[in-house]
Amino acid sequence: MKVQRLVIVLLVLAVIVGVEAVLMTHFTGESASAPPATATPEPTAVPTETPAPTPEIDLEATKPNEAGEVPIVMFHMFVDELDPNESYSDDFKRYTQSFSYLKELMGRLYDMGYRMTSMNDFLNNSIEVEAGYKPVIFTFDDGTASQFSLIEENGELVVNPECAVAVMLDFYEEHPDFGLEGTFYINLGGSPFYEERESGPQLAGTVQERLQHLIDLGFEIGNHTYSHCNLSSISDADTIIREVGQNQAAMYEAIDGYTFTSFSLPFGITSPELFEHIKSGTYEGVEYRNLGVVEVGWDPAISPVNPDYDPYSIHRIRGTGFMAEDCDFEWWLANPRDPIYVSDGDPNTVTVPQAYTSLVDESKLGGKQLRVY
Ligand SMILES: [Zn+2]
Repeated sequence: MKVQRLVIVLLVLAVIVGVEAVLMTHFTGESASAPPATATPEPTAVPTETPAPTPEIDLEATKPNEAGEVPIVMFHMFVDELDPNESYSDDFKRYTQSFSYLKELMGRLYDMGYRMTSMNDFLNNSIEVEAGYKPVIFTFDDGTASQFSLIEENGELVVNPECAVAVMLDFYEEHPDFGLEGTFYINLGGSPFYEERESGPQLAGTVQERLQHLIDLGFEIGNHTYSHCNLSSISDADTIIREVGQNQAAMYEAIDGYTFTSFSLPFGITSPELFEHIKSGTYEGVEYRNLGVVEVGWDPAISPVNPDYDPYSIHRIRGTGFMAEDCDFEWWLANPRDPIYVSDGDPNTVTVPQAYTSLVDESKLGGKQLRVY
């Protein structure tokens, strides 16, 4: 069984590396003119409103377990449907899903008691999902236009109805209690959320307008390096610092004061020797500090209070594409692993059943009150 599992893991990894390579074939890494050194705002440790105290909850009815695992789903590309007259690579089919699938998936997650939470709330161990509900996090890598894009309508920029964000906005309108959250990991050496179209409505907006629109809708933006480089092929610290720092510098240039708080490894590949430069550094006077690093993983993320939790090695699950595979999100929905994170509805407390207290490292509570039942 162990060997079988290992084989699956290796296969999944191989596929991930393969598809990222395919996806980035078109990455041009436009001229890398260094943005001027700008002010370096402190990395904001995220919106922290003081949550109102929640009324006592019925623990037996809601059965919270905040030592459980959270699915962090990774998406890449979306299409209306596959053209039956075209042939697609397996990698394309693994990493692409339809808009209608996304809508159906959200409906199913809603009915299963999942609610949206954000990467920043996860990193802060401040998941604000209603008591008895399970958090789910959506992440999107590479800034593809099918994830989010703008078109011009009557002289105004509006969300392209043919993108994942439009699907999420529609769903949110009908199910506001599902929440509207998501983190987009982008490379500003390219042209995120834009592509030339041969036909149909042309995409619109400057980089700044696209990013601002996404932020105004409440979404988060994270660092995915400036040019989507393979970090393991870089042998010197300066290049890593440039790849991570130049992306932050370009972000400041587009959106004044917007500091990335998390980082997604391009191709899912890390650089163990130079990892400290992924976490933080200074590039041409611009400081960057990533509070979390998300991997291209194959299983749910362990709770931020778990003794083994490492914010610099947060696992994700691949969103199921047209070609489903073991260890993708549908697989995990069909083969759930105990314990699943169930919220107590109060971001000030960490509530855990007696049987799971070994999954809590009290030094990771961050001032929150531990409640065992
Ligand atoms: Zn990528």
